Order: sequence, then structure tokens, then C-alpha cells
Amino acid sequence: MILLNPGPVSMTAKVRAALAGEDVCHREPEFKALVGRVREKISAVYGAAGFTPVLIGGSGTAAVETMLSVIAPTARSLVVANGVYGERMAAMLRAQNKAHDVVTAPWTSGMDLTAAEAAIAGGSFSHVLAVHHETTTGRLNDLASLGAICKKAGVPLLVDAVSSFAGEDIRWDEWNIEAAAATANKCVHGAPGVSFVLVKDAALARPSGATSVYLDLHRHAADQAKGSTPFTLPTHVTFAFDAALDELAASGGWKARHATYAARSGRVRSTLRELGVGYLLDDESVYGTTLTSFRLPEGKTYEALHARLKDDGFVIYAGQGKFDGAIFRIAVMGEITERDVDRLAASLRAALG
Ligand SMILES: *Cc1c(COP(=O)(O)O)cnc(C)c1O
Repeated sequence: MILLNPGPVSMTAKVRAALAGEDVCHREPEFKALVGRVREKISAVYGAAGFTPVLIGGSGTAAVETMLSVIAPTARSLVVANGVYGERMAAMLRAQNKAHDVVTAPWTSGMDLTAAEAAIAGGSFSHVLAVHHETTTGRLNDLASLGAICKKAGVPLLVDAVSSFAGEDIRWDEWNIEAAAATANKCVHGAPGVSFVLVKDAALARPSGATSVYLDLHRHAADQAKGSTPFTLPTHVTFAFDAALDELAASGGWKARHATYAARSGRVRSTLRELGVGYLLDDESVYGTTLTSFRLPEGKTYEALHARLKDDGFVIYAGQGKFDGAIFRIAVMGEITERDVDRLAASLRAALG
């Protein structure tokens, strides 16, 4: 079965084999060495200087929520949202009882940069929060513009990079990024269960703003700096993550992966265009490389399309929230061969032609 949902993704045999490795205690030197190795490899993906990688046991959402530890409990922040994941960060701030404003845009639109710029100029926000690749629609948000606004105003940016880390370009300094959250099981092609935050050392030097015992970034960072972890990391999943990071580096790093995804998505898009299937967003140029959202053709239900493709060995993804039943999404992360892409094109033609 080839997974075309935005994580978890199909893994290579080597990564899957790493999951079935030896049982180790997370307090033993061999596991500490593994954690050290994995953290170094995370740093090496973009080579961003001055950022500390911090591993978190949990899915991508756990890393995003832990990242919010850099916001002081008394500070006010600004969320710039245009989809499920931006709105989820606002929900986290609500749950953490942290004051915040939200600049929203329709899910089919880009971030409202005009409103964001006005809010940033008028408010005294400690941080701006945004999603890089909005998986709700597949739009790659314009963090270059938002980051420039943040830089000019001297406000640091916190990024949900869960579905873009290792697949898209991230300009750590240019975009004024203070921290970004991501996961093992999307563009890195690891197994689900471990996620991470890359955070500027300066932010870790401030007191923790965590409102949770478990999701306290500073606590994880302090222990990991000593080669330890405060709580049990998923040991087997961490070994698989290490193997996936090795494969990422050996295959040419994020740039090569970006090019592979672009070629795969290009193939999916041209096939569906030929079949007269329309994009959810205005045009192809606003999409990232990892996922595309399509409007369901008239007379087709998502359930029938999903079942038909699943019979051929492909799992596609439904729309979330207001898009449920109106769209379908095809992600191209993970271990997918050229032959799989050929078969997918044929399967889509048979299902929608
Ligand atoms: C997948 C994803 C998440 C986290 O999802 P989990 O199910 O918690 O792994 C967060 N943000 C974005 C943009 C995502 O694509």
C-alpha cells in the first residue's frame, strides 16, 4: 500500500527494519549516543547556525505545542492563519491561557499580509506564529513576505514547518525565525511518534513559558544538552528516525527531495488536469511540492474515489472541516518509486476518466 496522505508516509525497507531493532533502555549510553546523533543530523538538514534541535516524543502537534514554551505567559502574540493548522496554533494559545490576536483569511486564500502588517505595527506582540505549508489546502505560505515584516518590526517568527521541513526551502535568518516545529514522519520519511523543535539558543536562555509539565521545551532542551531526556522517547521510532535522516542526507538532502516531490506532484497534476479535474486553489503556482488539493468532479464521491484507488494500492486523503466531501488531496512524500507514480497515473485515469 502506497500512502498518499500527508503523513505518516510509506517507509523504505531500511527504515522499517530499524523499527524492529534491539530493545534498549532510554537511560543507557547507546540510546544517549543515538539522541546525540539524531540531533546533529536534524541540525545538518538546513545547516542553520545558532539553533538547538530538541526531540519530543509525540506527533507533530506535540512539537508545535511544545514550541509555544518560548512565549512568556504574560506576553501577547499574533497568529496569522489560513487553514486548520494556523487555527490549531490559536487553539493551543487559548488552551495555554496566553493572550493572542488572530489574523484570519479564508482557507482558499493566502495569509492576509496587509492585516498582519497593520496588526504587527500597532500591537506589541512578542511573537508572530504562522504555518509554512498549510496542509489543509497544499498552499505554501509566503513566509518570505511575512518574515520580512517580522524582521522590520523586530518580532520573532514561530513556524509550524511540520509538512515542509526537509521538503521546502526555509530561510531561518531572513524570515526572522526563532523556532520551528516538525516531525519525523513527513518529509523526513521516518515513522510516526517522534517530533522536534529547532529553537534559537537565545530563546532557550529566557525562562520557559511552558504551561504544561510534559510540553516544556526548556526542560527537554536542558536534559538533552546533558545527553539525557526528561521522559521516555519512543526508542524504536528514534532508531528509525536516525536511519531516515541518513537516507535523506545520502539522497542529496532537502534540495534533492524537493526536486523529487516537484516531479511527482507535477505528474499527478498534469494527469488530473488532462482528466478535467480542477484545483481547489486558484492556480498551480501557489501550491508547495508535497501535496495538491483537487475539487471532486461532479457525480463523484470521495468515498468511491478513495475505495477505487485503495483497491489499486493507493491511500488518498479527504478534505478537512468545511472541505470534507468536496475535495481530495494527494501528497507525494515518502518512499514512492517511478513505477508507483506510473501506476498511480493509470489508476487515476481509470477512476476519473
Ligand atoms: C501533519 C501536520 C501537523 C501535525 O499533525 P500530527 O497529526 O500531530 O502529526 C501540524 N501542522 C501541519 C502543517 C501538518 O501538516
